[in-house]
Amino acid sequence: QAKQLGRKRFTVFDEALAKGMVDVLAMESELRKALRQSEFEPYFQPIFRLGDNQVVGYEALIRWNHPQRGLLKPSEFVKIAEDSGLIEAIDWRLFELSCRLLVEHIPGNPFITFNVSALHLRHMDFDMRILKMLERIGLSPSRLITEVTEGALLDNPESVRAMLDRLRTAGVGAALDDFGTGYSSLSYLHSLPFRMLKIDRAFVSELDKSDRGNSTTVVAAILALAHALNIQVIAEGIETQSQYDTLLRMGCEMGQGYLLGSPAPIERWQK
Ligand code: C2E
Ligand code: MG
Ligand code: MG
Ligand code: MG
Repeated sequence: QAKQLGRKRFTVFDEALAKGMVDVLAMESELRKALRQSEFEPYFQPIFRLGDNQVVGYEALIRWNHPQRGLLKPSEFVKIAEDSGLIEAIDWRLFELSCRLLVEHIPGNPFITFNVSALHLRHMDFDMRILKMLERIGLSPSRLITEVTEGALLDNPESVRAMLDRLRTAGVGAALDDFGTGYSSLSYLHSLPFRMLKIDRAFVSELDKSDRGNSTTVVAAILALAHALNIQVIAEGIETQSQYDTLLRMGCEMGQGYLLGSPAPIERWQK
């Protein structure tokens, strides 16, 4: 009986596994098709200078205009795109389109940031490819900031450092994204050439809670550390006026979030 039960369980497990694999394969082929049919679109979220609320930049965030399922967010497809390696082709398409849209629609000199997956940083020619793209589009390197997470630094911090150094020499800045959620933040911060640091939304949302003492202390420490290292700080996910006020009072330079502006197609931000 036990044997029977065992077999049955195994069958159930097997089916679930097989279904999962079929889903992943189906998704991969859909992603390929989406790439061919240009179904990916950058949404832009403004980044504000706290205090005078001047827009200083925009973060490009990928969206998938799926013909059947509607507008999809990265949480619904980026993981599979990364695991299959398709994220590289998807991202390049998105980077290029984001830069073009910025040049076409946004006058003045706000910067653009985009999220760079770990895979990109393994290519020794990533920096050259970025610079060629900027030249082709006519966007100054000083207007681009790459966002990388601590996770992307883990594989090979030395080669990532060399890459970010070369980019910085060419004028392209880097921001450490989701700060505080990964590992070894401190060592990365002082040894890598970051121009900006983004405080993760998790800390910002805590600023509102009744027991806000701790998160205020953590945010104050992050700000002190960043400023001592000459790194500017962007707070992510500002949703309330009181979070905004607290961050401003604590000396945080920049912020983004639903309170200030949600991600939207570029036309939304055209003056
Ligand atoms: P991230 O870079 O940390 O982006 C911030 C996320 O927070 C975005 O989610 C944004 O829409 C959301 N957000 C902004 N303001 C608020 C707020 O006030 N409240 C809340 N609750 N959320 C807010 P999104 O667009 O779903 O992107 C999720 C993640 O997907 C990004 O996290 C980034 O890691 C990744 N991603 C986005 N675009 C790309 C891309 O083009 N390429 C790659 N490789 N990854 C991307
Ligand atoms: Mg980001
Ligand atoms: Mg982030
Ligand atoms: Mg985040």
